[in-house]
Amino acid sequence: MIRKVTTHINQNEGTIFERSRPGREGYKLAALDVEAADLAAIIDSKYLRDDDLAGLPEVSEVDVVRHFTRISTWNYAVDLGMYPLGSCTMKYNPKLNEKVSRFDGFASAHPYTPDEISQGNLKLMKVLEEALSEITGLAAVSLQPAAGAQGEMTGLMVIRKCLETRGNARKIVLVPDSATGTNPASAAICGYQVKTIKSGANGGVDIENLRQIVNEDVAALMLTNPSTLGMFEENIEEVCRILHDAGGFVYMDGANMNALVGVTRPGDLGVDVIHLNLHKTFSTPHGGGGPGAGPIAVTSELEQFLPFPRILEVSDGKGGKLFRVEYNCPQSVGRVRAFFGNFSVLVRALCYIVSLGPDGLREATETAVLNANYIAHHLQSDYEVGFHGKPLHEVIFSDKRQQKFGVHTIDIAKRLIDYGFHPMTVYFPLIVPGAMMIEPTESEGREELDLFIDAMRSIAREAEETPDLVKSAPHNTRIGRLDEAAAARKPILRWKPASAAAGQS
Ligand SMILES: *Cc1c(COP(=O)(O)O)cnc(C)c1O
Repeated sequence: MIRKVTTHINQNEGTIFERSRPGREGYKLAALDVEAADLAAIIDSKYLRDDDLAGLPEVSEVDVVRHFTRISTWNYAVDLGMYPLGSCTMKYNPKLNEKVSRFDGFASAHPYTPDEISQGNLKLMKVLEEALSEITGLAAVSLQPAAGAQGEMTGLMVIRKCLETRGNARKIVLVPDSATGTNPASAAICGYQVKTIKSGANGGVDIENLRQIVNEDVAALMLTNPSTLGMFEENIEEVCRILHDAGGFVYMDGANMNALVGVTRPGDLGVDVIHLNLHKTFSTPHGGGGPGAGPIAVTSELEQFLPFPRILEVSDGKGGKLFRVEYNCPQSVGRVRAFFGNFSVLVRALCYIVSLGPDGLREATETAVLNANYIAHHLQSDYEVGFHGKPLHEVIFSDKRQQKFGVHTIDIAKRLIDYGFHPMTVYFPLIVPGAMMIEPTESEGREELDLFIDAMRSIAREAEETPDLVKSAPHNTRIGRLDEAAAARKPILRWKPASAAAGQS
């Protein structure tokens, strides 16, 4: 039955501004026992604020602490439970990475510190580059891009630059219809026309179709592998051959590398450029939109075009080695990010890689695939499979069976919140109508997976027996179903005092 379980005092926690009471203060100090000095007399007036502080909330320390602690408990986090957002790879982020990234030498390093006294940090980046190079099977890595989407853009800039030096940048980038929106967006930003290619019956690239489309105008194909359907592109070597024979490149969107690490190397399959989402595959918390890191790995042919600065390992002239930051890279596409990218994310990624080791990384991949298949197996009795075939690290269902009762994907996702889970990715990929894309990652143990499966089965039963209960979910949250379209189109991002708001509509 529907029951509001959240009747706690923080049910209706307002904004910190609504908590404000005239004259309430955070701190009171004892009376001065020295003579008061006039601030303006000891500090140059240009350093004094003259803006009006009226409007800032007047609150006590306990008001502040309770307000923020309460609203922090409204959040869902991977530390609370399973976060099965497909494609996003919301794996658990080991606390070890967090601890190491906060070491003083990492956390307080300044990007302008001279090379001679940054040897440790430069080495960390070089070792990470080498590790990613080994994992992807590609010759060289740039750690600079701040996220996957920026990695895509950088990778296409590199391809464009290479083609330009050959005399023709070409016009078209091919993107499969199952791709994430960032793929066509990146191609367009780099000045290419995007041509969509239809997925074949097995969800992969239709080879015959590809053969017909690829010509001298095609600069590259962007391929997500495994695809956003969770399927491995079995024809990848043939795909690469077709592109290469026509003088084009294969860009692999590596957001799903957590299904391949330690098992297969894209470079060995013929891929020319790949981005990795360190915040996905190599564990950095990324629920709130960052920071992340989207390094790219490229073939030796493309290395000279990578963003600068590069980190070089050179001789110190005394028989030893040292690391040097090289800014003179004449063929480089330029900088894409200030300094060295999001350094603390790089620290976490290397910590993750080194603490798992080669066998551990492979085991994480195998476990991620096993977990997705466990869910695929146990939910197919209740939900329509979105795509037939053997999934790797994520699995897609659709709402086809529940639609009969007027229940749709969005309702199932919202009802899942009542069961204590973050919803899965919904309505993506676009080629599966009513898609529910579930990615458990390797983090989940059997018990947690079973809880999730139970919840999903229970919702399937409810959809049949009490569809209204599902269609009006969530019921156990502080706020019920939101108007998401209005929230996206007319977001209210600035708090206004009640008096000011009253005067405006
Ligand atoms: C997440 C994702 C991206 C974009 O990566 P960001 O790091 O979010 O910019 C690109 N492609 C796929 C398939 C993804 O899942």
